Amino acid sequence: MARRWCRLATALALAGLVGACGSSAPDRPRAVRAPSPPPVAGEICLQELAARGVIFKALPQTVSSGRCTLVNGVRLEGMSAALNRPVTLGCPTARVVDRWMEEVVQPAARRHLRSRVSVVHQAGGYVCRNSRNGRLSEHARGRAIDIWGFVLADGSKALVRDHWRGAGARSRFLQEVGQKSCNLFHVVLGPGADADHHDHLHLDLGEWKLCQV
Ligand SMILES: [Zn+2]
Repeated sequence: MARRWCRLATALALAGLVGACGSSAPDRPRAVRAPSPPPVAGEICLQELAARGVIFKALPQTVSSGRCTLVNGVRLEGMSAALNRPVTLGCPTARVVDRWMEEVVQPAARRHLRSRVSVVHQAGGYVCRNSRNGRLSEHARGRAIDIWGFVLADGSKALVRDHWRGAGARSRFLQEVGQKSCNLFHVVLGPGADADHHDHLHLDLGEWKLCQV
């Protein structure tokens, strides 16, 4: 019965009639389902990644750890910017991270900092864990990455924890990255979402749609 009510409440929420059912959303109560992207076959995805000049290693077709299974995973090592350390992601997520660098991060760095990002500080991709509501996190499916911040070409840093708030150029840069990340990812959570995200941006391609930076 409770599940039926959740579905009904979510449907009504989508129609703007009532608030969404909290237990039906992965991280925040106002999430709605994201439109499903067209599937990209594993080999095609890897070929596209290589064609874009992304530095990566393809993992075995299926990687399992505990309750979690990563299908078509890659070990992402670098794009137009290096990573502070390699990160494991599903190939489709890695493709979007690469696009995000080119279409969101680097243009924002040019606009606000007159520089380019040389290193992305990521804080985790594929990890077998639950989200706060007790269900498997999108990290556990290889569909999410956490971002601490960036190192610019001159060696200076723009970190969510230290520079998100305020009126400076680094704040404007980070806030634009956060907002425009919502154009490419399904769920984007930042300091404006909750205390858990005070120091990083969570970007995922899960089944929900929510932009709360
Ligand atoms: Zn996350």
